[in-house]
Amino acid sequence: MTTYITEDKPFKLPAATIAGHAKHNDPSATSTPIHNASTGAIIGWQEHATAEQIDAAVRAAHTALPTWRTTTPSTRAKLLKKIAELIEADRERLSATQMQVSGKPPFEANLDVSDAAATFDYYAGLCADTTTFAPEQLKLPDDTVTGERYYEAVGVAALIVPWNFPMVTTAWKIAPALAAGCTIVLKPSEFTSPIEHMLAEIIAEAGVPDGVVNLVNGGGAVGAQLTAHPLIDKISFTGSTASGKKVMQAAAQDMKRVTLELGGKSALIVRADADIERAVSLAVGGAFTNAGQMCSATARILVHDDVYRKFMAAFETAVRAIVVAPPAGDDVAMGPLVSAAQRERVQALLAQGVETGASVAFCGQLDTACAQGFFMAPVVVAEPAVDNVLWTEEVFGPVACVKSFRTDEEAITLANDTRYGLVATVVTADPDAARHYKTQLRAGLVWINTPQLIFPQVCWGGLGLSGIGRELGLAGLRSYQELRHALTDAN
Ligand code: NDP
Repeated sequence: MTTYITEDKPFKLPAATIAGHAKHNDPSATSTPIHNASTGAIIGWQEHATAEQIDAAVRAAHTALPTWRTTTPSTRAKLLKKIAELIEADRERLSATQMQVSGKPPFEANLDVSDAAATFDYYAGLCADTTTFAPEQLKLPDDTVTGERYYEAVGVAALIVPWNFPMVTTAWKIAPALAAGCTIVLKPSEFTSPIEHMLAEIIAEAGVPDGVVNLVNGGGAVGAQLTAHPLIDKISFTGSTASGKKVMQAAAQDMKRVTLELGGKSALIVRADADIERAVSLAVGGAFTNAGQMCSATARILVHDDVYRKFMAAFETAVRAIVVAPPAGDDVAMGPLVSAAQRERVQALLAQGVETGASVAFCGQLDTACAQGFFMAPVVVAEPAVDNVLWTEEVFGPVACVKSFRTDEEAITLANDTRYGLVATVVTADPDAARHYKTQLRAGLVWINTPQLIFPQVCWGGLGLSGIGRELGLAGLRSYQELRHALTDAN
């Protein structure tokens, strides 16, 4: 197996892996650097796939499809299980890559490995369960016919993933796609592609046949060419809402099936009866995990007037105590942003918010070791106006806003005052209030008194501008299948 990042000299990722073969370009062709997010140093280079390579990758997946889609679910179950085991066995190297490329703290990098392995394991289980693929007999009002409902693989799937949870968002797509019998062309983010190359190698090592999983490197232009290819049947995309709209437009041309996991502007609500220590811990996790680079960031924090001062005092202590540093040591709680460009984008948005009236209540601190990389201290803004950019736009960085409210209805109105609808968190000791919030908040997933727990059994996806469709769970598998019916004369 190629070991991309542990070599002493900078690595060079191939432009594509097509039917099991790494494809390198002419040395004069475009390559872009991969950085160590904690130091800013260039640790490797990647070539970008050419239009011919993108076409060849799609054709390889198309050629592999008839055989792969007719493998038995139990064969696919064994392969998925094997992938999960190999990910676990490779935990150290995968975590090290995550830490180096994304700057994730050790516990977050490890969590990503666990999540990816658990996802493959879960879909192995669904494949092994004979009921998942068994045709269902329908009850019809006419006994002269019998009816059957069944599911078939959609076909060739283009999987496009961002940089914030590489390997995780990728596993959420690859595992159900393979389980369903689809073949794949994967396009990782150009900022974090080494981890996806490793995952592709693991999948090959597990015994998945050549051509079933192909990979093309590059940026948005490569993604756009992939989504426009006529032999792609399904696109699953995670990223910004702006790019998601372009993907949906490209899909419309051939009526390709789409699943879109897009942005969010989610709320965390602290009721007057909340355990404040827990509320603060959930607020810190919701806003500053992965340096706030989460579609699920609950960075609009709504706090009841009665406990606002107490919450803010405890929140300030907690935010000032966040250890922001390169990923060495278990005490590191927050790493850098993924790139210089992302930090500039976040800082520009913060400056715009402040210039238009938002005021910074307090900030965290940067460790002395943060001088070189793409670090930014956590920032908390108090009582921004509802039309301030920090309250309305997805920041995708370590910036949280806190606002007070007086009634549950006011909190719900403020929380729902967004065209996104991904997640929400409610902190309350009152089960009736929790039930009320659960039904009233416009969100695909509501956490009540829990951190942002994610299980492969629980579907992920949002309302409105947060996307279309669901990943994970049985619905995640079904999104790579076509629902079909057959009616047969019973006589
Ligand atoms: P993008 O949405 O641009 O990127 C997501 C993925 O899509 C990447 O692999 C990207 O390639 C690719 N891509 C970009 N344009 C197209 C296109 N037209 N057709 C097909 N694929 C395309 O996000 P960015 O990385 O540029 O981040 C910008 C902002 O988006 C962030 O600051 C954040 O606000 C938000 N974002 C939201 C995410 C979420 O999960 N909700 C995830 C990531 C970002 P490449 O990056 O290699 O150029």
